[in-house]
Amino acid sequence: MADFKYELGADGVAVITWDVPEKSMNVMSMEGFALLDSFIDKALADEACKGVVITSGKPDFAGGMDLNVIAEMRKGGAQAIFDGVMQMHHVLRKIERAGMDPKTNKGGKPIATAIPGTALGIGLELPLSTHRIFAADNPKAKIGLPEIMVGIFPGGGGTTRVSRKLGAMAAAPFLLEGKLSDPKKAKAAGLIDEVVEDPLAAAKDWVLNAKDADLVKPWDAKGFKMPGGAPYHPAGFMTFVGASAMVHGKTNGVYPAAKALLSAVYEGALVPFDQAIKIEARWFTHVLMNPSSTSMIRSLFINKGALEKGANRPDVPDQRVKKVGILGAGMMGAGIAYVSANAGIEVVLIDNSQEAADRGKSYSEGILDKGISRKKVTEEKKAEVLGRINATTDYAALEACDLIVEAVFEDPGVKAEVTKKAEAVIPQDAIFATNTSTLPITELAKASARPEQFIGIHFFSPVDKMMLVEIIKGAQTGPVAVAKALDFVRQIRKTPIVVNDARFFYANRCIIPYINEGIRMVAEGVNPTLVEHAATMVGMPLGPLQLVDETSIDLGVKIAKATKAAMGDAYPDGAVDDVLFWMADKGRMGRKSNAGFYEYDEKGKRQGLWSGLDAQYPRADEQPDVHHVQHRLLMAQVLEAVRAFEQGVLEDIREGDVGAILGWGFAPWSGGPFSWLDIIGAGKAVEICEALTAQYGARFEAPALLRDLAAKGETFYGRYGEGQAAQAA
Ligand code: NAD
Repeated sequence: MADFKYELGADGVAVITWDVPEKSMNVMSMEGFALLDSFIDKALADEACKGVVITSGKPDFAGGMDLNVIAEMRKGGAQAIFDGVMQMHHVLRKIERAGMDPKTNKGGKPIATAIPGTALGIGLELPLSTHRIFAADNPKAKIGLPEIMVGIFPGGGGTTRVSRKLGAMAAAPFLLEGKLSDPKKAKAAGLIDEVVEDPLAAAKDWVLNAKDADLVKPWDAKGFKMPGGAPYHPAGFMTFVGASAMVHGKTNGVYPAAKALLSAVYEGALVPFDQAIKIEARWFTHVLMNPSSTSMIRSLFINKGALEKGANRPDVPDQRVKKVGILGAGMMGAGIAYVSANAGIEVVLIDNSQEAADRGKSYSEGILDKGISRKKVTEEKKAEVLGRINATTDYAALEACDLIVEAVFEDPGVKAEVTKKAEAVIPQDAIFATNTSTLPITELAKASARPEQFIGIHFFSPVDKMMLVEIIKGAQTGPVAVAKALDFVRQIRKTPIVVNDARFFYANRCIIPYINEGIRMVAEGVNPTLVEHAATMVGMPLGPLQLVDETSIDLGVKIAKATKAAMGDAYPDGAVDDVLFWMADKGRMGRKSNAGFYEYDEKGKRQGLWSGLDAQYPRADEQPDVHHVQHRLLMAQVLEAVRAFEQGVLEDIREGDVGAILGWGFAPWSGGPFSWLDIIGAGKAVEICEALTAQYGARFEAPALLRDLAAKGETFYGRYGEGQAAQAA
């Protein structure tokens, strides 16, 4: 079966239907493109054919290019990519020109697109090459060009066509931010032409009545001027200067795609369309050859997708959750209740007092009300979701729950008590999960009568926004519990990673050294502004000092004390604690107390770094180079990730990379800690570690695994890219 079908109707309209076999959503492959090309040739050559409508045999039009194909294309090098992309442009341009005379712009055959639902990426670039786009009035449909989100940009003519259609300024949200719109908004913005009840019928009708002039794109007509002005037009000049500054401000120059996209638009706007397309193809090739785009596509699309589909799920029957019991209706419990009920799962939300349980439920109400005010949620949906949450103090209500998620105080005693109380009521085969962030799962499982059914499901705050969920296996956790946790995470549409039990699991284990390294530098007299900027310039969403302010300094103190008690003599030096404890003594607890490493105004708005730091930790006369600071901040995190993998806490580097980006925002341009090490090379990484170790000590020592890769000239993805565990190697 083929990806496209061709059918010439009695009315003379050829309908080309995109319907990729065995996929719920159409994606474009090179074979698909070749077939489409042959059908266009057929339609243009056939005298009985008056025009063409391209549509979909599925509820949606298309999800985009098959990114696995892009990954494959890259293997052939720059020339292969460029040739492949130009081949695609050739087909799209053939559709656009539709056989018309190049001089008179007459005699072409009308080609329209009928879009039933979502149309993304090449799924919009193909329609953009046709003469008119009809979309169904489907408010759930998403229309746009999201390529920038995975580190590339629209390279199927979308960049050139949308910027010429809308002007650089109006095109910016769609191209630079990957903004997606429903059909009505897409029409209002000028991305598509019509929103109708029956797009196929409307498109056929249009094709049968179109005149020569209806087929000529503005950029192919005489005297075309770019809307809003080309680069050397006074208005255009301002747009491009502003856009360039804005892109740099937003990306800190670490995302090659945004800059390349802007160059393609700018340079393309100076030349005729056919040259502009070539320029787009060159910049697109440039981006695809950049290791950042390879890594981003691999982590944020291919591997994230594989993990969500259960790449590491044990082979046990369906464990989807019907009714979840949530113990503790505080910040985390309330969030977990919302995401569960929103996914259609019945929820029992328990707290010590009815008031606390109700407060937890009202958190969902707040989110739903916000959704209503933004027209994203209906009153019916709100009633439905709230109707699924039973807020109570009565443990007997847990009777029919097949999963429990415990989110009470971070206290082993309290957790043990609720574990026993719940297990006295829940079914024998129910799974019990804890949302602890610091307590070992194996220890907490001791309170359980069924430790093989006891597991960690670690959410991040705020639960409704953070996409990562860390699933932690205790020493005795069995495969059914793992499958249950994975199926639950899939139901609530988040991304799971599965790790083994160890101090701070994976995400917190890596993020704490990042914060600590920043604080150490303050103690050493490094300019705190340099520390913060070095971090954001290398793509971290927050500098370490801002991050500790956000998570609160007393939490840092608490964790430091608990870690010291647990580690005894193995506890590292107290340089970080000195700063943290001093800040806490001063009552500077971070954002929540309106005072931390930063100053805040009365409304809680963050101001500059606190000047009092200088008096306590005077600035060193000589300040380090920004790259040196960045190496310290990145290595603090990635070495911990490598150790976690080496020790078998992390079993799959794909989880390590995806988890790092989704869990704590590790420089997404790099594709994650393991991808970053592969980009710089293990040899270079070891060199950096040696230099840092000589200056700062053992915490920067290169792990044996990294040394081994360096010695053998290997990469993490070369050796472990299919999910192999380090310990098995
Ligand atoms: P919280 O203090 O906001 O909520 C805890 C809730 O548990 C309170 O409402 C409390 O009344 C209730 N509770 C206490 N004892 C109870 C009992 N015996 N029975 C029923 N309810 C009881 O705390 P939180 O921030 O929601 O954290 C809860 C858990 O989640 C902790 O284990 C914490 O480590 C973990 N966690 C927190 C975060 C975070 O960012 N806050 C992130 C991940 C995990």
